[in-house]
Amino acid sequence: MEDTIRKFALQNAVFFKGKANPKAVVGKVLGGCPELRARAGEITPLINSITEEVNAMGLEAQTKALQEMDSSLLVKEKKERKYELPELKNVDGKVVMRIAPGPSGPLHIGHTRVSILNDEYVKRYGGDLVLRFEDTNPEKIDPDAYDMIPEDLEWLGVKCNRTYIQSDRFPLYYDYTRKLLEDGHAYVCTCNADHWRELKEKGMPCPCHDLPVEDQLERYDKFLAGGYADGDAVVVVKTDLKHPNPAVRDFVALRLVRTPHPKTGDKYIAYPMMNLSVAIDDHEMGMTHVIRGKDHLNNTHRQEYIFDYFGWKKPEYFHYGLVNIPDTVLKTSIIKQEIRDGEYSGWDDVRTGTVRALERRGIRPEALRRYWVEAGMKSVDIQFSWDGLYSMNRDIIDPVSDRFFFVADPVRYDIDGIDIIEGSAPLHPDHPERGDRTYRLEAPRTVFLAAEDSKMFYDSKKVRLKDLCNIDYGLPAKYAGNDVSVLRHGTKAIQWVGADAVKAKLLMPDGEVQNGLVESSIVSEKSDTVQLERIGFARIEKKDADGITMVFTHR
Ligand code: GLU
Repeated sequence: MEDTIRKFALQNAVFFKGKANPKAVVGKVLGGCPELRARAGEITPLINSITEEVNAMGLEAQTKALQEMDSSLLVKEKKERKYELPELKNVDGKVVMRIAPGPSGPLHIGHTRVSILNDEYVKRYGGDLVLRFEDTNPEKIDPDAYDMIPEDLEWLGVKCNRTYIQSDRFPLYYDYTRKLLEDGHAYVCTCNADHWRELKEKGMPCPCHDLPVEDQLERYDKFLAGGYADGDAVVVVKTDLKHPNPAVRDFVALRLVRTPHPKTGDKYIAYPMMNLSVAIDDHEMGMTHVIRGKDHLNNTHRQEYIFDYFGWKKPEYFHYGLVNIPDTVLKTSIIKQEIRDGEYSGWDDVRTGTVRALERRGIRPEALRRYWVEAGMKSVDIQFSWDGLYSMNRDIIDPVSDRFFFVADPVRYDIDGIDIIEGSAPLHPDHPERGDRTYRLEAPRTVFLAAEDSKMFYDSKKVRLKDLCNIDYGLPAKYAGNDVSVLRHGTKAIQWVGADAVKAKLLMPDGEVQNGLVESSIVSEKSDTVQLERIGFARIEKKDADGITMVFTHR
C-alpha cells in the first residue's frame, strides 16, 4: 500500500512543479483502490507523511523515482471527450448503407446528419457507402446538384464508393412493377384521386383494385406508352386496406409526369414514387442497414410490403428523431429564388444553412461530425443548437487561429507626449513558439479605433490600447504610460490598429458587411481561420490588392 501511495504522491508532485497536494493524493489513492475507502481514517495520516517525504525530494529526484516505479504515470492522461455511436443491430460482417438525396440543390445542414451517421458506420464496420441520387421528380431537380452534392460530401469527409442515379434505372422499376401487377399485388387505377383516397379512408377498394390481371397488364402497357394524360392513371401497390394506419393502405408507385427530365428529357413519362424506387434499389444494391428520420416511418412500412411480395430480405431500419434547425434558411426552393432575385450571392450565401455556407463561414467538417455523433441515433426529436455546434467548432479552430485586431468603421487618433511607442502581442497566447505581432509607432503615432470604441474613449477620457499603452482623450490623444493596472480601476482595453493596417471587410451572418482595418501582420498569416480579438473567429476568404475579405464564424 505504501508503494501505491508513494506512486500517486510522486505523480502529483511531478505534475505540479515538485509539490504534491496531500488531499489530491488521498483522492487518487481511494479512487484507484475503492476497497481502501473504509479505512480512509487510518490511511490519511500515512498519505500525509509520505507526501511530505516526497515533497522534500525535489522535482528531479521525484521524476527519476516515478520513472523507476511506473513510467506510464509520467504521462498526463488526457480527458478527451469521446464521440461515439452505439453499435448497429444485426451486423454480419460488412455493411452496405446509403445516402439518398434528391438533387434539388446542394446539401444543407439537415442532410449532414444522415450523411455523417451512415459514413461513421461504414467506416466502423467496413463495407460500402452508396450515394444514390433520387431524381424521380423532374420538377424538383437542379442539374448542378449532381455535381454539388458529391463536392459537399467530399468536404464533409463522407466517402461514398458507389454512386447511382435513379433516372438511369427506370426500366428496372417498370419491370418490377409489371411483376407486381402479374402477381396481383398492384393495380392501375384510373379513379379520381380524391375519390380513391376517400374509399381508402373507409378501408374500401376502388373499382380498379380487383380488375383481372389481364386488364391490369393491358392498362399498364397503355400507361407506359403514354395512353393516359398526367393524373388520369397511376399504378398503385396493394397493402392492406384495413391497415389501422390509413397512411399505410395502398400507395401510389408510378405516376405520369410530362415535364422533361434534366437527364432523360422526354424519354420517360412514368415516374416512380419514392416508395417503389427506394424499395427496389435498397434490395438491388444490397442495403443491410437503412438509417433514416422518423418522418420516413410510414414509408418504411409501405416499402416492407414490396420486400415481402418479392420475398426479399429486408435491411435493418433505424429511425432517428427529427431535428428542428432554427434561425437559418434551408429550403432549396427559397434559396434558389433569392439567388435568382439577386438577394443571395449564391448557394454559399452565409444566411443559408447549406454545407457551402457553413464551409465558407469557417465551420469545420469535424465539428459537424462530432455534433451529429453526439446527437446520436435517439428516437426523440431534438432541437439543433448552433451554440453547441459553435462550441465544438471552437475547440477545433481555436488552437489554429492566430489573434489579430480588427476595427470596424475606423476613427483616427494621433498620439502626443512620447517619441516612439513599442509593444508586442503573441500571435496565439497558448503558442508562444509562433511568435509575436510587434508594434512600433513613430510620429505622428497614428492609431485607428473602431467607431464604437472611439465614442467610448470620448466619454470615458481614457482607454488602454491593448498590448501597447494607455492614452488620455484629446486631439491628438495623449500618451498616458503603460501601466496595465489601470484596467483594475475601470479603464477599458480596446483593440486598435496602426497606420500600416490593411483594409478589411468582415461579412457577418446576417449578410451585413463591416468595413474596417485589420493589423498588417495578418497578410502573412497562413491559416485561413483567425480570431479577431473581442469580435470572434473569422475565415479569411480573400487577400488581394483591395485588402482582406473575411467571413465571421462565431464568437
Ligand atoms: N430521398 C429520400 C430522402 O432524402 C430518401 C430517404 C430514405 O429513403 O431513407 O428523404
